Amino acid sequence: MISTALTKLLGIRVPVVQGGMQWVGLPALVAAVSNAGGLGILTALTQPSPEALRQAIRETRKLTNNNFGVNITLLPTINPPDYEGYARAAVEENVRIFETAGNSPGKLIKFFKSQGCIVLHKCTTIRHAKSAARMGVDIISIDGLECAGHPGEDDMGGLVLLARAAQELNIPYIASGGIADGRGLAAALAFGACGVNMGTRFMCTKESPIHQNIKDKIVAGTELDTIHIFRTLRNTSRVYRNKVAEEVVRLENRPGGAKFEDLRELVSGARGRLAYETGDSDAGIWTAGVAMGLITDIPSCQELIDRIEKDAERIIDGLARMKLPDDRDATKA
Ligand code: NAD
Repeated sequence: MISTALTKLLGIRVPVVQGGMQWVGLPALVAAVSNAGGLGILTALTQPSPEALRQAIRETRKLTNNNFGVNITLLPTINPPDYEGYARAAVEENVRIFETAGNSPGKLIKFFKSQGCIVLHKCTTIRHAKSAARMGVDIISIDGLECAGHPGEDDMGGLVLLARAAQELNIPYIASGGIADGRGLAAALAFGACGVNMGTRFMCTKESPIHQNIKDKIVAGTELDTIHIFRTLRNTSRVYRNKVAEEVVRLENRPGGAKFEDLRELVSGARGRLAYETGDSDAGIWTAGVAMGLITDIPSCQELIDRIEKDAERIIDGLARMKLPDDRDATKA
């Protein structure tokens, strides 16, 4: 068993979190992850209203007795959501673990902390991580450039971000972006992280609510099959490289560039949702990270988490036994 600050704080068995994913973080997947020993997270904005989120929380509770969380992401949206309403509804439904992400989370974090909740906050820079720590979050999710969705604008890979987190942070942190297997978990622990967050890997599980065709696209895809859109709008997002995403980037790069209004119809979440529902991978924009290159199957959440745990333990054990060459060994050789 890999016992860390994360497993202790969240009351979970394996230090693996299924991060918020728009249109994917639904009760069946969340409960499957929590039942398998990780932390499942419901995505608040996937629900059309705070009331619908209440129902989703109740539905999840029927499927698992284990802890799960709720994600609230604060990023530009076409229809501004009632963030506070979602937050209140989840707290009233006795959710005690929240994942926050995006811009200006201070008010939300303050509310959750005033209600005695545990907050994981996603950060793509050390500056933001330190600021979130000062706001009182319990765990930072360090999100490297490899991640699906919004990696920030600094293009900092996970290796350096995690090593910087080890230097700078005095609260627990987990590694997010580019992680899909036990090797990733072992590496994250070596970087001083107390666990990992995975998104794309969980999209491609038996219990994931997306269409089989999209799961097959992820299995067939490589680390080269994602693309950054919204670069020019400073709202960069890593998505699956399909016809729609390539058209968005073409419009952004044309002389004079593109305003959001020029892209709105192509990028709307409602269209992306159709891809997940119908299996038409060109129906709209859908999110995927470069971890896609590591994904070769569609296991159940239990099979996946068991495998990650076992592989990480084997790797950590192997490293512990490794006789690292010192100067004398090198001279003998
Ligand atoms: P949406 O239909 O409102 O917008 C589609 C995309 O356009 C999103 O990436 C959004 O950030 C971007 N966008 C919207 N208005 C913009 C503007 N004025 N300028 C620049 N970019 C703009 O999005 P949705 O699919 O309904 O999702 C709702 C929100 O949740 C979005 O902010 C989205 O980024 C975010 N999200 C959350 C998660 C998560 O893990 N919780 C994952 C993906 C996206």
